[in-house]
Amino acid sequence: MQLYDTLTRGKQKLPPVPGPIRMYTCGPTVYQRIHIGNARPFVISMWLRRWLAERGYDVNLVENITDVNDKIYNAAPGHSAELAAQASQWYVEDTERLGLGRPDHEPKATETIPEIVSLIEELVRGEHAYEAGGDVYFRVSRFPDYGRLSGQRPEQLEDDDPSPLKEDPRDFALWKATKEGEDTSWDSPWGRGRPGWHIECSAMAEKFLGPSFEIHLGGLDLVFPHHENERAQSQAAGREFARLWMHNGMLEFVGEKMSKSLGNVASLHDVIERWGPETVLVFFLTGHWSKPIDFSDKTLAAAAARVERFREVFRGQSEPAAEGEWERFEAALEDDFNTPDALAVMHGWRDHELLRRALDIFGLASLAEKHDAPSEIVELARQRQEARTARDFDEADRLRAEIEAAGWEARDVADGFQLVPR
Ligand SMILES: [Zn+2]
Repeated sequence: MQLYDTLTRGKQKLPPVPGPIRMYTCGPTVYQRIHIGNARPFVISMWLRRWLAERGYDVNLVENITDVNDKIYNAAPGHSAELAAQASQWYVEDTERLGLGRPDHEPKATETIPEIVSLIEELVRGEHAYEAGGDVYFRVSRFPDYGRLSGQRPEQLEDDDPSPLKEDPRDFALWKATKEGEDTSWDSPWGRGRPGWHIECSAMAEKFLGPSFEIHLGGLDLVFPHHENERAQSQAAGREFARLWMHNGMLEFVGEKMSKSLGNVASLHDVIERWGPETVLVFFLTGHWSKPIDFSDKTLAAAAARVERFREVFRGQSEPAAEGEWERFEAALEDDFNTPDALAVMHGWRDHELLRRALDIFGLASLAEKHDAPSEIVELARQRQEARTARDFDEADRLRAEIEAAGWEARDVADGFQLVPR
């Protein structure tokens, strides 16, 4: 299997089965319900995790939760900790509804403070970082490879967080001294404070995956400065860190003005409420993970129509797929995890077993399991049940045969019957 890697700007092969494949995904900063765009790295990571497991790999996926940050302080002055706890819960609830399961580990920054502090201490000892007024900054000039991931030349970089305490405007904070109005802080060798954003991920990745791991994933908006800085910190401290960098494309609101109505449905929670989890997942399948994807009523309606086409297949009779169909599906995913191509292959299938297996990788097995049989079949099943109640077993058997001929199986369950596609 091969995947596009931002660092080498080309496709890189994964190690052979069973790996291991250790993956780290940058999760959300929690201060409100997550936006539909923030769901994309979660969805791609979980799909990739499920696919690699299907292929026989030993996978370990870590996706963090950033629960201490300027955004959270600003969103809830004086009670950021309560907001972060609440928003973490929303994040878990909302992503849970996608039916993809959970990453193997979901560490929170605030639960990783000792590891963060000790990594910063190591960088200070190696002169890769320095203390200034209770803050600690990474010394960019000591890391010659800086800028390689994002393709930026160090001398061109702009300072996004100016401070008179920095030796060099390119330097960035690893630790920040507590400011007035901040309700959370921790002890450190440099006084009370809290970690910078980038160092959290370096520490959390290492805690659960070790000093080197196969795949680092996150949104394209994180390449610079977040991932450039993660890489600089960990490598300056002597760790190999990530071997392959996957950056997913952003959600774009093309073709529709950012109208109020669209703005109102832009949280994952609201999009699921409106369209259902299956449509949200199929919508993400239609775009290649590395490319931007258009979010609009039109693209969501098109995804809903695809969902219906899959359901329709399971209402009909199963037809065995031709030889080599699974291999075609596999080939699409093996070459840079091309879900739109895999989706196109799946739409050609009438083979229930094969389609159910493929849908399950993307958390869509429910499309095969839902029993919305046509009303005439439901009516036959109801008549069959009446016949059974009246102990007219000949009639019940005749109706069963008729239901089966239409591609359904009537199962007797405690409170009546269940119709399952055959
Ligand atoms: Zn990160």
